[in-house]
Amino acid sequence: MTSREQMFINGQWVGASDGATRPTVNPFDQSVLAEVPAATEEDARQAIAAASKAYHDPAWAKMDPAERGRLLRKVAALIHERADEIAKTETLDNGKPFREAKGDVLFAAQTFEYYAGWADKIEGSVIPVPGPRFNYTRKEPLGVTVHIIPWNYPFQLGCRSVAPALAAGNTVVAKPASETPLSFLRLAKVMEDAGVPKGVFNVVTGSGAKVGPVLVSAPETAGVVLTGSVPTGQELLKEAARKIVPVTLELGGKSPNVVFPDANLEKAVKGAAFGIFMNAGQMCWAGSRLLVHESIHDSFVQKLADFAKGWKQGSGLDKDVRMGPLVSKGHHKTVSSYVEKGKAEGAKLALGGARPADAVLANGNFLQPTIFTDVDPKMTIFREEIFGPVLSVTKFGSDEEAIALANAVDFGLYAGVWTSNLQRAHRFAAELESGQVAINEYPVTFPQTPFGGFKMSGIGHEQGRGALDFYTRTKSVMVNLG
Ligand code: NAD
Repeated sequence: MTSREQMFINGQWVGASDGATRPTVNPFDQSVLAEVPAATEEDARQAIAAASKAYHDPAWAKMDPAERGRLLRKVAALIHERADEIAKTETLDNGKPFREAKGDVLFAAQTFEYYAGWADKIEGSVIPVPGPRFNYTRKEPLGVTVHIIPWNYPFQLGCRSVAPALAAGNTVVAKPASETPLSFLRLAKVMEDAGVPKGVFNVVTGSGAKVGPVLVSAPETAGVVLTGSVPTGQELLKEAARKIVPVTLELGGKSPNVVFPDANLEKAVKGAAFGIFMNAGQMCWAGSRLLVHESIHDSFVQKLADFAKGWKQGSGLDKDVRMGPLVSKGHHKTVSSYVEKGKAEGAKLALGGARPADAVLANGNFLQPTIFTDVDPKMTIFREEIFGPVLSVTKFGSDEEAIALANAVDFGLYAGVWTSNLQRAHRFAAELESGQVAINEYPVTFPQTPFGGFKMSGIGHEQGRGALDFYTRTKSVMVNLG
């Protein structure tokens, strides 16, 4: 049944001021899940105004930081309590298997727990200075922070930035992707039920191109976090440059997964498969370029193809399903066009490349797990982010060649190395141009560990203690004691 959703602004559930809505559809069968407000520019301004008012309201501004931590723990507990319901919403809206969606939701709860612990530990310092003076620093919140969220991990990635922002005492306006707005509206309900003061957390739904620039350029906006594509990052930077507002950009990737013959190859096959076929490959950190040593190339690709063939495709609510549909028809078209480019540029199709034959899946945006071999660094499918279940495999002969191939793209988000040679593992960790390197595992991250990209994969990072630096500003106070 189609639900009628509302946005959450200033502690109120509201529609768009002009009454407009847009449908959000289930990518498994194109059924309309909900009608969601299509926010106007005025709605976006209202949300910023509410967040700004809440930022200055003593109910939030003067809240004891330990109390803020307790509030965030309550948010985490409610997410845990509602994990099944939120995960089901995510599965219906995004298409991902329920098991993956549940993992995303639990990760989000852990992120709130982690940052709840930091709320009363954000400390300044005392700095020795010449003369009879006392100098200290204060770590203050930025003010209103804007969080622009992608559709691939809406709940997890939205919470990844909202939790530290609130822990540091900011107020928040979040804008989920128009393809997948529902789970963040469930988060708004969690915030309301946890007792987060009105206006501290707001959700605006609708078109990013329409309301995004208003949110970013609003005079009260003091920080912006985008998790999204490079073109959106470039647009957002232009907007942010006009008012010199700090930004964190978590953008795309084209990550290498490098396999040596001395690795545990059984584990490497599984890691390579999860790295590209989980979430139907719609992952910023997808291991979309598999670099395999020439001595094991053929047998490794064969094992990987055999393993991936066993991944059942279907509705994310079906327990045995390992791979759901792509998020939208439009995205299916884009990913399919890369498959055609791969073929046209001379790569060899070793698996998949088409819609699954099963008639039950005919209305869904499905694409088979796809593997290309003989992929050359000049080919488009080696260089560009495809954001689907399409793996490019390239052979290498030496460590130097593997490093050069791994670093030969514009992105630098994540990289995997499979080897039992300790020296080699640490050499790769040092020489790979990537914000994260995983050795003998792919992919893995935790709320405690930094997540960010080098090169065109982004600016700044999320997660870990360091993320709090973005959500605070440092003030130096000089006291003359003479
Ligand atoms: P997208 O850039 O199309 O959209 C991201 C968000 O930006 C959406 O909420 C959208 O509505 C909004 N938006 C669009 N135009 C805007 C504008 N002009 N101003 C402000 N906001 C605007 O990205 P997507 O398709 O939702 O997500 C896929 C991309 O995200 C991929 O490139 C992927 O690699 C990247 N991603 C990166 C990470 C990371 O942590 N580095 C994580 C997940 C996804």
